[in-house]
Amino acid sequence: MSTTVVLLSDTNPAGVIADASAPLINIEDQGLTRGDGVFETMLAVNRSVRKIDAHLTRLAGSARLLELPMPSEKQWQDAIATALKEAEVGARTPLGEEHTVKLIISRGTVEEGPHSWVTVAPSSAKVLSQREEGVKAMLLPRGHDPAEDSAYPWLLAGAKTLSYAVNMSVLRYVKSRGADDAIWVTDERRILEGATSSVIVAKTVNGVKTLYTPEPSHGILPGTTQGTIFNGARENGWELGFGPLYPQDLLEADGVWLASSVRLLAPVTHLNGTKIAVDADTTYELLGYLANN
Ligand code: PLP
Repeated sequence: MSTTVVLLSDTNPAGVIADASAPLINIEDQGLTRGDGVFETMLAVNRSVRKIDAHLTRLAGSARLLELPMPSEKQWQDAIATALKEAEVGARTPLGEEHTVKLIISRGTVEEGPHSWVTVAPSSAKVLSQREEGVKAMLLPRGHDPAEDSAYPWLLAGAKTLSYAVNMSVLRYVKSRGADDAIWVTDERRILEGATSSVIVAKTVNGVKTLYTPEPSHGILPGTTQGTIFNGARENGWELGFGPLYPQDLLEADGVWLASSVRLLAPVTHLNGTKIAVDADTTYELLGYLANN
């Protein structure tokens, strides 16, 4: 599997195609040495990026928090178009041809400053298989309530930074214990988010279909997938709720999903080893709200 790289450039509006196997990052790049940068991961179906506006809006917010320069929307759009045109054949799925598209802004070196690039690669088969097979999730402590971070701008609450070592570490931890994914909780066991996803819960109460997610502005990453699904659900008669959610709410739900841009919706089949309800009809309905976005 090869990755296509397009570097954003002030002199070349369409971006510059680069050789992904060549050394493109300076060894002193602070995106590399400190995780000092921001990114977005997006899904392209049939070489068209899904919900690009929501991703560019979130990227702009992340860049603002880190005081990084945000290239213009046109620069991103043109570089993405160049990369998607150049990319090798993607993964074939019922949706069409799928690629994973990443946008990155790195602090760069002290001498040269920030720089940005786009990568496109076929989506991983393992990630795509979770749409069908679902995930076994473990509830694990976040260590503190990220809502507390919101008061302190230097803690970068809600920014999608390159510092994902903790997110990757928790995935290794759950895998070593036979699970697929983690759902973080606060010390009082309030549900936060997945390692790389938002949590969505469906429950019918007194005949009223309700979708819940933990309050997105409370220190967790506001998910573009969750946001798009909730917009569609609202238009289709669902009640919406924004937590607080606790483990019991997930155990008693009609369905629980991990939502993220490339995976879309992965039904949670087990929580801490306990089998929970899987709602295939609702999965299908919620996926429909993502279809044209
Ligand atoms: N929360 C975290 C920590 C994530 O890393 C991600 C995606 O990578 C999400 C939520 C879901 O965001 P989106 O739906 O915009 O992909």
